[in-house]
Amino acid sequence: MTESARPPKAPPHGFQPVSAMDYLPADQLRQLQLQRLQTMVRRAYERQVLFRDRMSGRGLTPHDLRTLGDLAQLPFTIKTDLRDTYPFGLFASSMSDVVRLHASSGTTGKPIVVAYTREDVQVWAEVMQRTFAACGVHAGDIVQNAYGYGLFTGGLGAHYGAEALGATVIPISGGNTDRQIMVMKDFGVTVICCTPSYFVHMIERAGQLGVDMHQLPIRAGLFGAEPWTEQMRHHIQQTSGVCAYDIYGLSEIIGPGVGSECTAQAGLHIFEDHFYPEIIDPETGQSLEEGEEGELVLTTLSKWAMPMIRYRTRDITRVIPEPCPCGRTVRRIERIGRRSDDMFIIRGVNVFPSQVEAALLAVEGTLPHYQIVLTREHGLDQMEVQLEVTPQLFSDRVGALEEVRRKLAHSLENTLGIHVKVQLAEPQSIERSAGKAKRVIDKRDATP
Ligand SMILES: [Zn+2]
Repeated sequence: MTESARPPKAPPHGFQPVSAMDYLPADQLRQLQLQRLQTMVRRAYERQVLFRDRMSGRGLTPHDLRTLGDLAQLPFTIKTDLRDTYPFGLFASSMSDVVRLHASSGTTGKPIVVAYTREDVQVWAEVMQRTFAACGVHAGDIVQNAYGYGLFTGGLGAHYGAEALGATVIPISGGNTDRQIMVMKDFGVTVICCTPSYFVHMIERAGQLGVDMHQLPIRAGLFGAEPWTEQMRHHIQQTSGVCAYDIYGLSEIIGPGVGSECTAQAGLHIFEDHFYPEIIDPETGQSLEEGEEGELVLTTLSKWAMPMIRYRTRDITRVIPEPCPCGRTVRRIERIGRRSDDMFIIRGVNVFPSQVEAALLAVEGTLPHYQIVLTREHGLDQMEVQLEVTPQLFSDRVGALEEVRRKLAHSLENTLGIHVKVQLAEPQSIERSAGKAKRVIDKRDATP
């Protein structure tokens, strides 16, 4: 990558914890989790027909949950359960107690609908406040919230958390990039919230408008809603001077605010007093030992309107058993680079878009704007990666471009173990998104 050598701006000093819950001794935390878990399982059993039927099918009642370890016997909840009970089938509160609905758009068919009581909205604000605090944000910061406002949980989730912290929120939502840059500059924005791919686009557009983010007060970015890589973090920090933090959440559980990196940037703390994490083998469903990699399963410990017991996230990660240098006692998970939903299989090989991203950004002169196009030729799957390169490289002699193309093909083949076609694209030629980037275009069904 062609990048400025300037280091990112340092996080602020004098950090004040906003919640003692982040620092609770482990035994107290486990006790609190068990109490809350028992309450939650009782509530789900009494009010969610689907959950009660599955418990009964296994001969279980809430009384069988005596320890946290007993949770492993309980049935899973999966995404299709939310679709099958559309729209309100998993609500555990009557509508008169529900103060908010959100929905996540599926790529096909009906969305999933999630509900919040007044208490749930307060918990959501609290965990997002703790998220901002973990990323070194404090009262007095000016937060540009470019997550989408609306049915998507990103916008309002970040909004309430930043306000609870006492920061100034600019509810700009996604899109209109030129206006984003103008506001960032004119309002003295110090913190940005959006998808990492959209921020990369903002950096690039700022450059075209003659705005150097290194010269602006903006210092931190809370990036989530799509998987991204360490290479992407490096790119963002080098090209903007903004410390890039990974935040994690999903609508089914609460929205953003399930977990967050701290200023150590070494894994994401799960707000364990509200969300109980387990790691399972995605094939067998068996619980794995702490530290082993597998699928993250989350149980809500305080979600009133819609308890989720053992929700399978499809996100692949592991729990980091070692204590974090920041002093928080709530456990960390490794950044989620892979979602089993994002995985595609090509010629029998499992491929994750994040592996492609890491392989691409390891080569100098490349930009994090790429797309993976899958086609079928004569019955054989083909994978082509289209990637933008820096304007300097593109205007350079043909030999240099060919050299980069060869390096990329080599880097991809090394990482994935299969041959991949690489097409270098002109700067600005790959479509930008103001939300989640579309990385994979699968045309295989259209080309038998
Ligand atoms: Zn930490």
